[in-house]
Amino acid sequence: MSTIDYYEILEVGRSATTDDIKRAYKRLAFEWHPDRNPGSRDCEERFKVLNEAYQVLSNPDKRARYDSFGHISSEGLFTEFDFEAGFGDIFGDLINEVFSGAARGKSRRGKDLRYSIDLTFDESLTGCGKTIQVPRRTECPECDGSGAAPGGDIPCQSCGGRGELQYSQGLFAIRRTCPTCGGSGRRIVKGCIECNSLGYAIIEHDITVKVPAGISDGARLRMRGEGDAGYIGSANGDLYIDVHVEEHPLFRREGDDLHCTVPISFVQAALGDEIEIPVPGGKSTITIPAGTQSGQTFRMKGKGVPRLEGRGAGDLYLDIHVEVPVKLNRTQRLLLEEFARASKEENVPMAKRFVSRLQELINK
Ligand SMILES: [Zn+2]
Ligand SMILES: [Zn+2]
Repeated sequence: MSTIDYYEILEVGRSATTDDIKRAYKRLAFEWHPDRNPGSRDCEERFKVLNEAYQVLSNPDKRARYDSFGHISSEGLFTEFDFEAGFGDIFGDLINEVFSGAARGKSRRGKDLRYSIDLTFDESLTGCGKTIQVPRRTECPECDGSGAAPGGDIPCQSCGGRGELQYSQGLFAIRRTCPTCGGSGRRIVKGCIECNSLGYAIIEHDITVKVPAGISDGARLRMRGEGDAGYIGSANGDLYIDVHVEEHPLFRREGDDLHCTVPISFVQAALGDEIEIPVPGGKSTITIPAGTQSGQTFRMKGKGVPRLEGRGAGDLYLDIHVEVPVKLNRTQRLLLEEFARASKEENVPMAKRFVSRLQELINK
């Protein structure tokens, strides 16, 4: 995640008020707006970051979260930013007006949150439960999110409690969210003490993620309703969890199958042997038959990765690599020379075929 200082981006101090931030944003947004700087990727990028900064700092709840966590470990704490909302602000809520219904519906649902977890290779194969701490917007139980003390709110006078204003412009009937009450239709005359009239608090929740056996690196889990609380009666956001799986020193995963390169000596290959091999969660023994060739593969059915959907598991492939000695002492050399003298063509059928084909080619 970014380590960009949002205050620096907006050229304001840490104690800036929401109005200061809004003013700074408007000024800079006009300066960096892509329409005013056509074709400049740099400006586009700056504009994007500017929007991001504004999204966070103009929202008291995100700003509080940013102030506490932004520079320590922001990984996974922030949600995807909704660029349209910031955009709408400079152009007189134009976008919000045009998409009135949809935009309001969207903004009332709690935000989705993102988080990432690291798994060992073994955990990805067996599945596991991981508990993570997620700070999220939580509705105040005292006032049910209204921010008002019991009996402490009255209908908003600007909109008559409807939460939106309607007027016509040319041929269009335009509805816009009531700016006085922000769409709630209520005006608070006596605030809730518990939440300081905010209607919510940022509370760190322990959430246990059930990771299914067989999950792969880069997968994303979704926990419905575990994101930020929605605004009064609206649905909660979702929590998305990105899964990172550590590499294994011996196994390589391909789909539901596992591959493992198994080096054996040329003597083991020629004579055959019993060897130890790794299997998920432990080890096992297999018999290598005499005359095993380099590049040969042995398959252990069902010893691969458990299938996420459906039954069974993939297979484990043992890719044999015959290792030729890199250095010989005198005794070994003499023995091998002796071996060569005693060897016949039938010891090396592939080489024999190769030589005869080569001969055929030359004699053509
Ligand atoms: Zn109102
Ligand atoms: Zn409250």
